[in-house]
Amino acid sequence: MVTDQLSRPLKDLRISVTDRCNFRCTYCMPLEKYEWIDRKEVLTFEEIARIARVFVSMGVEKIRLTGGEPLLRRDLEKLVGLLMPLGLKDLALTTNGSLLAEKAAALAAAGLKRINVSLDTLNPEKFRRMTRRDDLPRILEGLRVARREGLNPIKINAVIERGVNDDEIIDLAQFARAGGFAIRFIEYMDVGNANNWRSEKTVTKREILKIINGYLPTREVGRDGGNAPSVDYEFEGGGSIGVIASVSEPFCGGCTRARLTADGKLVTCLFSERGHDLKGLIRSGASDAELIVAIGSIWSPRQDRYSEERLVAMQSSEGYKPERRKIEMISLGG
Ligand code: SAM
Ligand code: SF4
Ligand code: SF4
Repeated sequence: MVTDQLSRPLKDLRISVTDRCNFRCTYCMPLEKYEWIDRKEVLTFEEIARIARVFVSMGVEKIRLTGGEPLLRRDLEKLVGLLMPLGLKDLALTTNGSLLAEKAAALAAAGLKRINVSLDTLNPEKFRRMTRRDDLPRILEGLRVARREGLNPIKINAVIERGVNDDEIIDLAQFARAGGFAIRFIEYMDVGNANNWRSEKTVTKREILKIINGYLPTREVGRDGGNAPSVDYEFEGGGSIGVIASVSEPFCGGCTRARLTADGKLVTCLFSERGHDLKGLIRSGASDAELIVAIGSIWSPRQDRYSEERLVAMQSSEGYKPERRKIEMISLGG
């Protein structure tokens, strides 16, 4: 098992299957014009499955498929089928849900058990403002179809932005509780460069919990497996919520996640400036043993703890301003 400079093993892999997206969420990718990865640079399913197998042989137990919008990748269920034999503890998918109604049956038939669907507002007009698209009814339909196809659990991811959708925290919690979905509220982060993040826009975990507890008291359950990004809470009488507090309570100490971009770059932190090319290696004929050495030599020197450093800066007299250029979230897979 390979560990980094902070003794963190490599346990999770997030695979971006495409950088393309049909939404333009203001907090992620508001730019209408963007230089997309050239299609021939995008890893094939066979290449992704091979790289995933190598990661599994190095200790990775969980894989999440993401993007961009992963359901834009044609026949994604074929990739699910290729990953199933790896014997993962967990295979999950994060989607904006716009194509879920069409794709849920094929994904479930291929072996996918669970999904996360991003949904930040139940208000159609606000949905349009936040995503620059009109797809709220399609997402709600996608949630219904996913349930019918037996995907379980279905988790809802809601990024909360001050002054935008913080007035909907209770509505979203009620919606999730009534529908039997697990909802995770996410602190708005300074991912990428395009979203013009400012710290005032982040609604903290403490603020979110105060609002939730004013509606229905919760009991803390903790982090799944001890190191999941979300801290989970149960409502008395059923239902649960989670909060991902990357900004106010960073969890870099337990971060065992690597990311693979759609064009085959290995990225060691969500806030990295650059990735390390694995596609070049496999396309030039590297063996699995060579890939293992390459991945190990990227993971072992890893010292990333961006969110912890950001918190220290935010608490300093100068405050924190994101200055260095980072890879866009849409490219490296949220
Ligand atoms: N397109 C898919 C989706 O939206 O679910 C998958 C990719 S998206 C980059 C993955 C997750 O990142 C989504 O749940 C999204 O809400 C979250 N995300 C994007 N920008 C964010 C930000 N600035 N702060 C916190 N979470 C963010
Ligand atoms: Fe929104 Fe996901 Fe697309 Fe980012 S990748 S713009 S969060 S739908
Ligand atoms: Fe992991 Fe980087 Fe996020 Fe810290 S900031 S939890 S090291 S991805």
